[in-house]
Amino acid sequence: MNEINSKPEIGLDPANWDDIKTLGHQIIDDMVDYLKNIGNKPVWTPIPQQVKDEFKKPIPQQPADIFEVYEEFKQNIFPYHGGNIHPKYFAWVQGTGTPMGAFADLLAGVMNNNAAIGNQSALYVDKQVINWCKQLMSYPETGSGILVSGGSIANITGLIVARNTIVANAKNAGVYAAQGKLTAYCSSETHNCLGKAAEVIGIGNEQLRKIPVNDNYEIDIEALKAKIKEDRENGFFPFCIIGNAGTVNTGAIDPLNELLQIAKNEKIWFHIDGAFGALAKLVPAYQDKLKAIEEADSVAFDLHKWMYMQYEVGCVLFKDAAAHRAAFATAVNYLTAHDRGIAAGPETISNYGMELSRGFKALKVWMSLKEHGVDKYAAMIAQNIDQAFYLGEKVKQHHDLELMAAVTMNIVCYRYNPGNLDDDQLNVLNKELLMRMQETGIAAPSSTLLNGSYAIRVANTNHRTRREHLDEMIAGTIAIGSTLMKEHDSKLFKFDFLISK
Ligand SMILES: *Cc1c(COP(=O)(O)O)cnc(C)c1O
Repeated sequence: MNEINSKPEIGLDPANWDDIKTLGHQIIDDMVDYLKNIGNKPVWTPIPQQVKDEFKKPIPQQPADIFEVYEEFKQNIFPYHGGNIHPKYFAWVQGTGTPMGAFADLLAGVMNNNAAIGNQSALYVDKQVINWCKQLMSYPETGSGILVSGGSIANITGLIVARNTIVANAKNAGVYAAQGKLTAYCSSETHNCLGKAAEVIGIGNEQLRKIPVNDNYEIDIEALKAKIKEDRENGFFPFCIIGNAGTVNTGAIDPLNELLQIAKNEKIWFHIDGAFGALAKLVPAYQDKLKAIEEADSVAFDLHKWMYMQYEVGCVLFKDAAAHRAAFATAVNYLTAHDRGIAAGPETISNYGMELSRGFKALKVWMSLKEHGVDKYAAMIAQNIDQAFYLGEKVKQHHDLELMAAVTMNIVCYRYNPGNLDDDQLNVLNKELLMRMQETGIAAPSSTLLNGSYAIRVANTNHRTRREHLDEMIAGTIAIGSTLMKEHDSKLFKFDFLISK
């Protein structure tokens, strides 16, 4: 035997499988305790410096015991989550996840499918989940879709198909194949991932026309029509209108039916960013406002936000399945389908999006929908909306609180306003108030600017939230606000000083 063949061979599975079982049971026990008690802990805990220092250590050269690795995780990682699994977390738009969703991710990890290709269960589950997503949106059965990492990539995928469908030969010739510079249209309240999408598809952010909004933060239809007309007169090539089903700032829903009509008249692609708001389609009171989703050329939405599923999973649907496929399909030798064997499976999902290798993200969607059923999700989403209206009312009732935008869905923007401060001072006060509320772990809303005014922004996509949690947040707001006013009066906290800095 030569030297190479006599060397003992190695692998990465454990030497002792019983240890894995023991550790696995420990992890499940810890996981259940963690989730069961999450509401009794602060919504967020700042990370101590010595823990941050742990993450600067160099790459390990030598193996460590699996129990020690897990212990380190428990010490330095597990306690310092971002907060979004907590019942009093309302920052940005973040989902909560479920225990069953965590199991699904674990099981997907065990199977470790490359869910892109091959005659394997994962591809059939993926197809079924896409069909279920169409049913969620009452979207045509003949449509198609793909699961992606989230709303950003879902929107980009939508715009790629829009470009490649409206501009013949864009796939080979790029945007240069268009007769005139391509322009797309959305409201000024649109999420910045659509700006990124405009950059990625080669039209450039300037050619994404940000149309002003009305007092309800919905796109101004007349301004949109005028801009399209003006662009056509100046030799531009309008190819896509993007409607918002739930803007990130206030949850506003653009007049989607009108946008759909304009897109039809102008022969423009109609895409909807419904990252969270599209899911309100499950709630009867929103069905009319969101009816146009059913006829949109493409619609993007997240399952990890308002379907409460584990990160990461989003979806984009297309009315024209052939156009969807044509935008991405390529025939390459190493992906050729066979009559039998593993390569006889469904068509590779890489023919429907940018990615080739993909995890089995469909499994958590499949298991979650089986566990709860659509009706439960509809009731859950309706409850989040009811809670937002409840919060809006509580804000209106208190003389030191001001509602900053009408509540229309699940987002509430408010501020502490004792009445004797100017706008700049209020901005400083409320920013400080929010940071204290987060640091003390009372509750975790985030912030935004509405017409230049700083607002505490509550986005409710949280299945763990109950009305009492909102009551506690309001009580916390008032307590911190009045403390800040006292500090201001005794010159401990200076609004003006902070502004001039
Ligand atoms: C969150 C969000 C996005 C981006 O989705 P990700 O899943 O975070 O990539 C896009 N649009 C809106 C309205 C959003 O709320």
